[in-house]
Amino acid sequence: TRTPVNVTVTGAAGQIGYALLFRIASGQLLGQDTPVRLKLLEITPALKAAEGTAMELDDCAFPLLSGIDITDDPNVAFDGANIALLVGARPRTKGMERGDLLEANGGIFKPQGEAINAHAADDIRVLVVGNPANTNALIAQSHAPDVPAERFTAMTRLDQNRAYSQLAKKLGVTVNDIKKLAIWGNHSATQYPDLFHAEVNGKNAAEAVSDQAWLADTFIPTVAKRGAAIIEARGASSAASAANAAIDHVYDWVNGTAEGDWVSAGVVSDGSYGVPDGIISSFPVTSSGGNYEIVKGLDLDEFSRAKIDASVAELVEERDAVKSLGLI
Ligand code: NDP
Repeated sequence: TRTPVNVTVTGAAGQIGYALLFRIASGQLLGQDTPVRLKLLEITPALKAAEGTAMELDDCAFPLLSGIDITDDPNVAFDGANIALLVGARPRTKGMERGDLLEANGGIFKPQGEAINAHAADDIRVLVVGNPANTNALIAQSHAPDVPAERFTAMTRLDQNRAYSQLAKKLGVTVNDIKKLAIWGNHSATQYPDLFHAEVNGKNAAEAVSDQAWLADTFIPTVAKRGAAIIEARGASSAASAANAAIDHVYDWVNGTAEGDWVSAGVVSDGSYGVPDGIISSFPVTSSGGNYEIVKGLDLDEFSRAKIDASVAELVEERDAVKSLGLI
């Protein structure tokens, strides 16, 4: 039998954590032949709730779950971690300035980056889900100088999945008919879901839609504001779909993306497409051999260029703000 893979989940007692842990333990994160050991990090007041979730995990008798550790100490939670899902974050509350939000998250992601640097396994792969995800990933990455920067990623897969489902509905096709629909930029309202490089049954998606007004004024804002629409309808933020996207992101990272297709992930920019070096921005990416690589050489028309530039400008602003706060 294989040695268990250590999977650390932060914010494990939260809504996303509750939707995520059972899927990890059932083998959906890494595959049906890979045993996992869960390492749950929570803040002290939420430890008891995390223990309750762990009791339920026990009660599922998952054959692939080889153990559960629960702690409020990042040094313990990331010890030997192979995969880390950073879900717990400080949400923006009423009246909170952006600087306060970034500072509060700096207080979470700086020590977590340091603990990953000091204690994680050599093959550590990190996915940041907690918002503002791209910038939280940048903070953690900048405090883990011994870990290759490309091991830190931010989640835009939920945005991608939302885009798939909106496009499928519009065209009366299924999501299986769609390929290469990626998100560029920040996981925020400025994100750019790109139909110009996407394909529907082998045809260009923007041409298949043939309705520039729908693309610009309905599709993009619907995808970008879907989180708010879920809160409005459900009375709570999306949790199962966010957990599902985190599973998709890690599964494809580890197992590779399909030939002739790509997915979206926030990865450290190498300067591709004029996105400044070092910021964590979403791109179309492929994975093989356990590495996400930016898809190179795509032509960007004026419309796409302007959308990407606007989202990247927001990421640069966030980076400059955390820099001036001394967080990176
Ligand atoms: P959720 O589990 O619902 O959300 C956790 C984080 O994921 C939030 O930052 C949220 O951002 C973000 N997120 C990213 N994408 C989505 C999406 N599509 N839909 C919804 N959320 C998304 O929050 P809870 O409050 O239920 O749980 C958070 C848990 O984290 C708590 O148990 C808390 O104790 C814990 N925590 C742990 C820390 C640690 O381990 N050190 C530090 C801080 C908190 P947004 O708010 O913008 O929706």
